[in-house]
Amino acid sequence: MKHETRPSVATVTPGPKDQFGRVIDYLRLSITDRCNLRCTYCMPLSRADAADTPEVLTAAEIETVVRCAVDVGFRKFRLTGGEPTVRRDVVDIVRRIASVPGVGDLAMTTNALRMPELARPLRDAGLGRVNVHLDSLSATTLPRVMRLGDADRILDGIRACEDAGLTPIKLNAVVVRGMNDVEVADMARLTIERDWHVRFIELMPLGAGDEARLSVTHFVSNVDTRARIESEFGGLEPVAPKSASDESENFRIPGARGVVGFISPVSKPYCGGCNRMRLTADGRFHLCLLHDDDMDVRGALRSGAAEDARLDRVRSILRRAVSAKPTGHRLDAGFHTRGRRMHQIGG
Ligand code: SAM
Ligand code: SF4
Repeated sequence: MKHETRPSVATVTPGPKDQFGRVIDYLRLSITDRCNLRCTYCMPLSRADAADTPEVLTAAEIETVVRCAVDVGFRKFRLTGGEPTVRRDVVDIVRRIASVPGVGDLAMTTNALRMPELARPLRDAGLGRVNVHLDSLSATTLPRVMRLGDADRILDGIRACEDAGLTPIKLNAVVVRGMNDVEVADMARLTIERDWHVRFIELMPLGAGDEARLSVTHFVSNVDTRARIESEFGGLEPVAPKSASDESENFRIPGARGVVGFISPVSKPYCGGCNRMRLTADGRFHLCLLHDDDMDVRGALRSGAAEDARLDRVRSILRRAVSAKPTGHRLDAGFHTRGRRMHQIGG
């Protein structure tokens, strides 16, 4: 089903407000914690993951959560992971979500490796657009950062997304000291000829493993990243945000077609405009990426109660999760999560 056939947002429930007055209407759905890459700051190299465990929500359960979320007032949905495209039923998941009346925006965050074969079926199933993760254009640097990755294959995936109409293309580049930090101007240069949005992301420490330690020891502030880009191209021109919840501060290299953005959760937190919540692949609502608190949804989905009672419980958990959403994180003061890693929550 295409987006045009969905009911207009004006005819459905407005998004719920949390205790700080923020309208929370955006749900990121992690559909797997598996991945075909092992980025240094996200996932341990040693992790073996051949198949999803039985705890992971099925396509039908994900659809049920989305229906309940729409009833509560959520409008925007994004599939993430792990790598969402490693799930064999990813096209079915997209089709199910896209067909839920009231879903206003459906996007995906991906490393694009599987997009040459999947971009068109995903678009036909109702996916609107993608954010693609690409940390470097260099054949030598990229596999150091995005272990098992290949810059040319990711670029092929991006082209497939463009050809299929999964636009506008946004790129996520996580900046890591001593790895890709000296190449940020090369990434920014992509926006001169292309209508792409290249966003530079500060490392966040999630979980208690080597990836979290590296995210601290190899942190690069976007103040430095921006300075490197400006020393190459001169001053950047500000671009007005499309919405108050846009976490990216956006600029244009003078004369460029595309946009350069900075996502700075550590040096410039944007919690005040946060409009999102997360569902983990094993069915827990995460109130904030940078807090360990979560609420169990899988238990409600699999309780064995009658359908109406199960849906009521899911809606009620969602409402409670919205009202319990914390005001912000304390990364600047050195506090960080101890529970899940990034690939287990979804960025
Ligand atoms: N596999 C997909 C991908 O890489 O885009 C989707 C999941 S990944 C967890 C989502 C995003 O999280 C990535 O695009 C990457 O930019 C970001 N990310 C992963 N680990 C991070 C970290 N430690 N700090 C900041 N961003 C991170
Ligand atoms: Fe996989 Fe994305 Fe994590 Fe990289 S950032 S390991 S591509 S889930």
